[in-house]
Amino acid sequence: MSLGLIFLFIVILLFGVLGLFYINRLSNEGRLVLQNNHESLVYCNRMMRALEDLRTDKNALDNFRENLKKQQQNVTEVGEKEATEDLTRNFNELLIDPSDSSNYSDIRRSINKIEDLNEMAIVRKNGVAQHTAENAKGALTWLFTILTLVAFTFIFNLPGIISDPISRLSEGIRAVAGKDYKKRIYLKRGDEFGELANAFNTMAEKLDEYESSNLAKIKFEKSRIETIINQMRDGIIGLDEKRNVLFLNAVSEKLLGLKESTIVGSYAPDIALSNDLMRTLLQEGPEKKELKIYADNKESYFNKDVLDVMDNGILIGQVIVLRNITPFHELNEAKTNFIATVSHELKTPISSIKMSAKLLTDLRVGALNEEQQELVRSITDDSDRLLKITGELLNMSQVETGNIQLKLQPANPTAIVDQAVQAVLFQAQQKRISIHAAVAENLPFIQADVEKTSWVLINFLTNAIKYSPEESGVEVSAFRNRDKVEFIVRDKGRGIEEKYLPRIFDRYFKVPGTHDRNGTGLGLSISKEFIEAQGGKIWVNSELGAGSSFGFTFNAA
Ligand code: ADP
Repeated sequence: MSLGLIFLFIVILLFGVLGLFYINRLSNEGRLVLQNNHESLVYCNRMMRALEDLRTDKNALDNFRENLKKQQQNVTEVGEKEATEDLTRNFNELLIDPSDSSNYSDIRRSINKIEDLNEMAIVRKNGVAQHTAENAKGALTWLFTILTLVAFTFIFNLPGIISDPISRLSEGIRAVAGKDYKKRIYLKRGDEFGELANAFNTMAEKLDEYESSNLAKIKFEKSRIETIINQMRDGIIGLDEKRNVLFLNAVSEKLLGLKESTIVGSYAPDIALSNDLMRTLLQEGPEKKELKIYADNKESYFNKDVLDVMDNGILIGQVIVLRNITPFHELNEAKTNFIATVSHELKTPISSIKMSAKLLTDLRVGALNEEQQELVRSITDDSDRLLKITGELLNMSQVETGNIQLKLQPANPTAIVDQAVQAVLFQAQQKRISIHAAVAENLPFIQADVEKTSWVLINFLTNAIKYSPEESGVEVSAFRNRDKVEFIVRDKGRGIEEKYLPRIFDRYFKVPGTHDRNGTGLGLSISKEFIEAQGGKIWVNSELGAGSSFGFTFNAA
């Protein structure tokens, strides 16, 4: 822009100066012709006329003299001075002798000479003026041509000079917007565009550095996380939202018997078609179920945990975690074996203590005083309690080791209910609780282990008596429900808070605040195992303060 303006200024200046110079010169030359020569011609003309009128007009002499004087003051050409002096001398001679006609002709010749000189000068000066005009024309034409060429160069190049860097800059900006941080703009210019290009390049360089350092950081973090995941003893499998495999760690590679490199990106359900474990993992269902997996020449136990990966409330993938619980399993097994051994070993001595206590009360052994009788009763009670506990522990260990021995046979529900009621009658009487048995007539037989089913019913009844107030009633019923036989023990005791119901069949669970010295928290969980092992279903209904119902159903045989 500055260049263009400077150029425009120079054009105006050059044309102005040159034009003025030539116009001034031409006007000078014109004025000189007028002043130097045209006036001399006028004087000569007047002197000529005065000379004609000299004999008739007495003013003619003065007129001649006046014009001669002016001519004397306007001598400008070479030879004009001599001609004017000749004229003056001839005029003086005429004044001395006016009758000499030769003086007239001398004067005329002198005037003609002066006229010739001035006319020649006019012709010459006209030539000079013409030459000057030609020069001016030439110079101005040259100047015009050169400036037109320069102007044309400007017209064709100036838009390019401005738009070229702009388009290159916008091209660069577009590249950077598209994350091409390697883009650079090379403008070898010292102007604002050059500065802009340099600033752009610096910016792109900084972005590039930032990007590559970020990338390096992300790569480093990725490999760190991969190493951590690979070092874990748990199996970890990552899936994306479309259930394509994202990663596998070393443990899950071993468990699945697949290589990460071969299955990454594959659709997990496709892999499940030929891989049993993958099929189990993808199955929806109780997640906490234990999986027994044979890998690395040994049996291991895993818990499947499926974690949903969310981003801003949108599911972006899943992580399947196979928690290795083998150590816990082994410890649990050791504990169960220990409990089984101890409770088995305790059973015989406790039974013999009970037997001895019973013998002590026999009068044939000897009479006991009141105090001694009380002590023996206490020994019997405690032995009963110990027997119950060891019995439950033994049952539990059988359940845990999967060693339940079932004697399934067609059984009469009425007989089972009667057996259970008989077993708890004494306890009920002690709290003056009435047991009402309501067994439907003509009940079909069920396929069950009588001993274990009675045990469950006894456990229900014992709990009902335990958690009911004195002098209340407990109802035990058995009836047909379509093709099923249902057993229910209902009490009007203290009931169970709703939040504890889901855990009531868990091992060792006791409702907080239960002060029962004899309770192990095992009764209900053993009941559940016994009933489910026989193909039955167990359930509970309870309301705090209103009482509880515990029941189970069997298919009619
Ligand atoms: P325990 O041998 O300690 O009684 P159970 O497994 O039989 O263990 O019972 C677990 C818990 O359930 C008990 O501690 C008790 O708090 C609660 N419970 C069982 N039956 C009843 C019932 N009929 N009424 C109220 N609470 C009960």
